[in-house]
Amino acid sequence: MTGAGRYAPSPSGDLHVGNLRTALLAWLFARSTGRAFLMRVEDLDRVREGAAERQLDDLAALGIDWDGEPVWQSQRRKLYATAIDRLVDEGRTFECFCTRREILEAPSAPHLPPGAYPGTCRHLTEEERAERRQTRPPAIRLRTEVDEWTVTDVLHGQVTASVDDLVLRRNDGVPAYNLAVVVDDGAQRIDQVVRGDDLLTSAPRQAYLATLLGIEPPVYAHVPLALNVDGKRLAKRDGAVTYRELTARGVDVFDLIVGSLGLVGDSPEALLQSFEPSRLPRDPWTFVPPAPA
Ligand code: GLU
Repeated sequence: MTGAGRYAPSPSGDLHVGNLRTALLAWLFARSTGRAFLMRVEDLDRVREGAAERQLDDLAALGIDWDGEPVWQSQRRKLYATAIDRLVDEGRTFECFCTRREILEAPSAPHLPPGAYPGTCRHLTEEERAERRQTRPPAIRLRTEVDEWTVTDVLHGQVTASVDDLVLRRNDGVPAYNLAVVVDDGAQRIDQVVRGDDLLTSAPRQAYLATLLGIEPPVYAHVPLALNVDGKRLAKRDGAVTYRELTARGVDVFDLIVGSLGLVGDSPEALLQSFEPSRLPRDPWTFVPPAPA
């Protein structure tokens, strides 16, 4: 096998059809290119009790399989701490005491998009830091040395986005999402990342961070999301959208997803015959939940 792909759900609740569609696509991209397929539970934050197990059950019920046991981010804290320590030791970080509100209200540097970190705590003196530590614990941010970074995406081509001083460790001590994803993809030798296109603009900052940690950035494929009838990102509140809800209403979820992708086949393996990334729909998938019987 050459390399690996993965699916990395956050166990904040049940997966909806849009998530399941992305998972199936990640599986197809990996298997059609002879890669291993790994499962990673991103449970550092916003975990709902029992959600991870239900997500894994639903993925398996859809016919998706993965190599080895799923890894759980909550059990990998040491890996993240080691990576953060390395960046700290290399002088690539700084302590940040800003609140969310202070960041939103600060006048941003001209090259940064709205909401990007304006660099407030970059140049604090040791005395200023000591004083601020009295009021709140610091987050650790990367001292980013570029304005933007470019990645290659199978569906979007070259994608360039700005990179600000991203958080590596939150001020409650939890490793930040961007750091954990990059460290795990590196440790698991993931060289193909397939996920929803809401994360497209995060890819350049993750790839930049990867290079600082000596990790070769993966090839990306950011796939279209599922939307509700109002054109907003599909959510649990939109009605019957999970595997279990839809199955209870007599819907064959696998067929539904396969049809939305313009593919033919009654199992993930069968889909491999007709899977061709360049022929995938490029627009979001508008999903209308079925009414109760
Ligand atoms: N855990 C993230 C999510 O469920 C996905 C992270 C990733 O694929 O990089 O949105």
